[in-house]
Amino acid sequence: MFDVVIVGAGLAGAVLAERFAQDKKVLLIERRQHIGGNCYDKIDDNGILIHRYGPHLFHTDDAEVWAYLSKFTDWRIYQHKVLAQIDGAAVPLPFNLNTLHKVFPKSLADSIEFALLKNFSFGKKIPIMELKNSAEVELQFLADFVYEKIFLHYTEKQWALTPDKIDGAVTARVPISISRDDRYFTDRFQAVPKNGYTALIQKMLSHKNIKLLLNTDFREVANLDGAGINLFGQKFSGRLIYTGLIDELFDYKFGALAYRSVDMRFETVDAENFQAAATVNYPNNYEFTRITEFKHIHPAKSARTTILKEYPQNYTGKNEPYYPLFTDAAKSAHAKYLAELKNFPQITAVGRLAEYRYFDMDDVVKRALEVYNSCSAG
Ligand code: FAD
Ligand code: UDP
Repeated sequence: MFDVVIVGAGLAGAVLAERFAQDKKVLLIERRQHIGGNCYDKIDDNGILIHRYGPHLFHTDDAEVWAYLSKFTDWRIYQHKVLAQIDGAAVPLPFNLNTLHKVFPKSLADSIEFALLKNFSFGKKIPIMELKNSAEVELQFLADFVYEKIFLHYTEKQWALTPDKIDGAVTARVPISISRDDRYFTDRFQAVPKNGYTALIQKMLSHKNIKLLLNTDFREVANLDGAGINLFGQKFSGRLIYTGLIDELFDYKFGALAYRSVDMRFETVDAENFQAAATVNYPNNYEFTRITEFKHIHPAKSARTTILKEYPQNYTGKNEPYYPLFTDAAKSAHAKYLAELKNFPQITAVGRLAEYRYFDMDDVVKRALEVYNSCSAG
């Protein structure tokens, strides 16, 4: 009855459902009670559009991804700014030349700026772990300062590990920027869907060839049998797109992959505004890593404002697997799951959970479009 079965109605599942539905019958199975995966947003009791699973800001340099998503939404032009609370002041993050002049007295800031511009061209972005290798005294001083005040304690909270113990690509997401650009991202296209991500994804899924089953766990309706798939008690011989946890698909036979979770705590503040930017990071104080105030992302007329404090947690299997934690054991187990997947040519694993990658939304859309193109070519 269905040509394609897709597990997970997040962004990866939605893009693939939309693409395959052009000429195939698609069954989309989602265990949550809503579509959108971790991009899910909704209007809360204060009349403010909030991101239930943490702040989601769309940014991409990929014109094709931007054009594709633009078929399903109008955009609200929005360039994300983040402040970091250090030494009692909220300063621009990523750390840039403006930040430098905000945290140090003029003479010291000038000498560090001089050393930076002598060693790196204007506009360059340097990961903290690279800056730490600098030989010059001013740069070494700056690296120690930024490492201690911005990266060390935030990373310990977020990952329960020091920055040298996690994949360097993770801290490199927030490089030191030799510029006066205060934006968190510098991509060509930056915006949020005008009516939110849920509305965007709803539009993608509004097709007569897509049948959506919410509140349905794939494991309740299907099982892997030998190298085949049983679905609703019958052999399924079509394509299965799987966007859930890859270890769960194979009953954790090579062990559970490591993740970090976050306790997302929303609060209503009885004031029109709470903070000066959409997100303020607290590297050194409190147990939460950052506070996001959603009114900055989607302005709303309300006497109150909604904020979100993020408290990182161990992943227990009962909370949400938000961030892959690339331990050596997890990397080796993941390689075994990938090898196992080859025994099931019908199954394609796509997305942040299924591919165990620290994907942003644009990476997921790009990946899903690539998968669709390769499936339809083969
Ligand atoms: P998911 O969104 O996780 O969707 C997978 C879906 O599959 C889920 O709905 C799940 O319920 C369902 N599922 C799993 N197993 C089963 C099963 N057995 N049966 C049925 N359904 C199942 N990206 C950005 O570009 N910008 C940002 O600002 C940004 N902020 C982020 C903040 C946080 C806190 C997090 C965690 C991520 C952020 N991201 C951001 C990344 C973004 O969330 C992901 O790139 C994107 O949501 C991944 O989509 P996906 O479809 O791969 O996975
Ligand atoms: N980071 C940090 N201090 C900050 C911001 C980020 O140490 O103020 C580090 C931390 O290890 C974090 C990583 O950089 O996990 C990536 O940050 P990003 O803001 O990209 O994380 P995300 O938005 O994906 O949670």
